[in-house]
Amino acid sequence: MPPQYIIPKTQKAAVVASAGATVEIKEVPVKTEAELAPGECLVKLHCTGVCHTDLHAALGDWPLKANTPLIGGHEGVGEIVAIGPNTASSPVKIGDRVGIKWLADSCLDCEHCRKGREQNCLKAKLSGFNVDGTFAEYVVSYVHHVTPIPEGIDSNSAASILCAGVTVYRAIKYSQTEAGDWIVLPGAGGGLGHLAIQYARVRGLRVIAIDSGEEKKKLCLELGAEVWIDFKESKDIVADVKAATGGEGAHSAVVTTASPSGYKQAVDYLRCGGTLMAVGLPGQAGLEASIFFTVFKSISILGSYVGNRQDAREAVDIAARGQVRCVYAKKALPDLKDVYEGITNGSVAGRVVLDMTEQ
Ligand SMILES: [Zn+2]
Ligand SMILES: [Zn+2]
Repeated sequence: MPPQYIIPKTQKAAVVASAGATVEIKEVPVKTEAELAPGECLVKLHCTGVCHTDLHAALGDWPLKANTPLIGGHEGVGEIVAIGPNTASSPVKIGDRVGIKWLADSCLDCEHCRKGREQNCLKAKLSGFNVDGTFAEYVVSYVHHVTPIPEGIDSNSAASILCAGVTVYRAIKYSQTEAGDWIVLPGAGGGLGHLAIQYARVRGLRVIAIDSGEEKKKLCLELGAEVWIDFKESKDIVADVKAATGGEGAHSAVVTTASPSGYKQAVDYLRCGGTLMAVGLPGQAGLEASIFFTVFKSISILGSYVGNRQDAREAVDIAARGQVRCVYAKKALPDLKDVYEGITNGSVAGRVVLDMTEQ
C-alpha cells in the first residue's frame, strides 16, 4: 500500500507579483491529482535552498526574464504525494523522497537532450523561473526529471546539492583535470565554493582556495583546500597561484564569481593547456581575457551550466556517502525577504535552507 496523503486545497507560497516587486507570502491553490498532466507529480516539500539565481529571477535583471507572478525556488526536497493520471513508465512512485533542481523538465528527445545536455533543451522547464518553484508547501514537478534522494542524507543537507552542488560538480567533472592536478576556486568560502572544494577533493585534485577573512579561511582549509589566498591581503593573486604551483600555474579554475576580473586573472594564472570553467551567471559582465595568451598558452575557456539528470544523481550520491557536506543556515519561508536582502548586501555565508515543515 502506498502512503495515503491528505492534500489541502490551498497552501502558503512566496510570490513575486512582477519583476522587481517585493516577495510576499500568499495563500495559493494546490493542484489536485486529477489536475496533474501525465508525467507530472505533486511534491510536498520538506525544505528548499535559496540560490542567487532566485534573486535574479525576482529582480528580472537577467537577459532572460522569469514568468510573473512567480513562485521562485529550485533546490527543493520533499516526497511525492500524487502522480498525474495516465503517467506511463514513471521511474518514481508515491512516497518517494525526491529533489527538484533548476532543470525541472526537458523534452528528452531533441539533439541536446539525446547528447546529455538536457539543460540546453529549447523546451526546458526551469523551476522557479518559467514554471512555479519550491518556495511553497507543494510544487508540481516531473517524474522523469526529479532526482531520487538516497538514504544517508537528510533533506536539509541534500537541498543545496541540487543546484549549488550539481553546478560545481559538473564544472569540475568537465574541467579536463586528472587526480593530482591543481584547481583554483575563487569564492571558495561561499555557497558554491565550499561544495566545489569537496567535490574537487573527491576527484583527487589539489585545491587553491581564494576568498577573504578568517572564518572562510578556516572553513576552506578544514574542507581540504591545500593553499589559501586572501584576495584582500594578496598583492598579486597571479603570482601567488604560480608560486603555489611550482611556477607553472594551475591546471584549471572554476570561476563562480560575477566579477570580470576573476576571469582575466584566471587566464593569467593557468598553466599552458589549462582550462577555465565559467560558471557564475552575472547578468551583464563580459568575459575579458587576453586573446594572445589564450592562444599562446593553449587555454580552453568553457561554459558549464547547472547539470543534467545524471550529474544530479552523481552529485547527490557523493554527498549521501558522506564525502561532501553542505554548510547552511536554517530559516523559514517567511524569512525569504530578509534572506534576499542578506544575499544583496553579501552578509549571507554559505547557503540558506528554508525548512518548510516550520511555518
Ligand atoms: Zn541555483
Ligand atoms: Zn530536449
